[in-house]
Amino acid sequence: MKPVIGFIGIGKMGAPMAQNLLKAGYPLVVYDLRKQAIEDLTKAGAEKVSSAQNLASRSSIVITMLPASPYVETVVLGPEGVIKGAKSGNIVIDMSSSYPTSTKMIWQQLASKGIRMLDAPVSGGTKGAHEGTLTVMVGGEEKDYEECRPIFEAMGKNIYYVGKIGAGHIVKALNNLCSACSMVITSEAIVVAAKLGLSPEKVIDVINSSNGRSWSSQFKFPNFVLNNTFNSGFTISLMNKDLEIATSLGRELHVPMFVGAMVQQLYNYAVGQGSGDDCHTAIIKFIDDWGGVEIKNKQRG
Ligand code: NAD
Repeated sequence: MKPVIGFIGIGKMGAPMAQNLLKAGYPLVVYDLRKQAIEDLTKAGAEKVSSAQNLASRSSIVITMLPASPYVETVVLGPEGVIKGAKSGNIVIDMSSSYPTSTKMIWQQLASKGIRMLDAPVSGGTKGAHEGTLTVMVGGEEKDYEECRPIFEAMGKNIYYVGKIGAGHIVKALNNLCSACSMVITSEAIVVAAKLGLSPEKVIDVINSSNGRSWSSQFKFPNFVLNNTFNSGFTISLMNKDLEIATSLGRELHVPMFVGAMVQQLYNYAVGQGSGDDCHTAIIKFIDDWGGVEIKNKQRG
């Protein structure tokens, strides 16, 4: 018998991840503040509930996939939170990208009631969430990770145990630090190339068969930037949060993060300019008045 899973946060990532759990045969209870978010899942067989507390009382495993730590704290520890409904021995898995310090605080509170916790953030974007090919990086007790491994395998392809509680959230932030830096540096290169009258597509092709390539140049530029769609499903705000987590870790340890801190300032500026809900690849517009390749080609005449 598969355990009943409660899933909270049915957004751009949570919706397809929850669908994959249903497909794998897990009984599913779902909760989101937005009623329309859970319609597809309830049609597919999930049960809906009216609060996180209610959800936790009906599930032995609770997954959260929420925007950031303050949301996770409210949903897990708040007045109608998971902690009120969960029983001793149950497991809470935070798959959001969260602050490791907040994760440890939540873990301590849950532990005082005998409730276990894992942090298991993901990489692979909405595409990976739909295809069930996410990378999952898990922190917590290793035996709890082993117990939950089949659940992660229903949503992801590459599953890693990375250390004690909070370790998954640390690795996730550091991964996105690398990802954001490659996004920004490739944007700078492409803007210079375009201004010099070179074809951005051609330059990306060359970079992609040379040693300047990255996931940003190989996947994000062709799919979201050069075609001017900017629809990766991952926002500037969320990237800014991940950069803030990564650079705060470096600050606490007195590790110089000259490049990461600059990139974080750029994303932070973009949020301040009102672009927080835009695709994170639209950061190129803050380097140049980027109108996409077609506009650049027209400008070049
Ligand atoms: P999203 O905003 O699309 O989804 C978040 C969901 O949480 C929404 O449906 C919202 O209604 C719900 N929610 C907010 N507060 C709630 C509450 N108090 N109770 C119940 N539901 C609540 O965000 P997303 O893009 O799916 O990202 C979710 C997490 O995954 C974030 O931590 C993000 O950093 C991480 N992440 C996102 C991507 C991506 O490509 N979008 C990739 C990897 C990791």
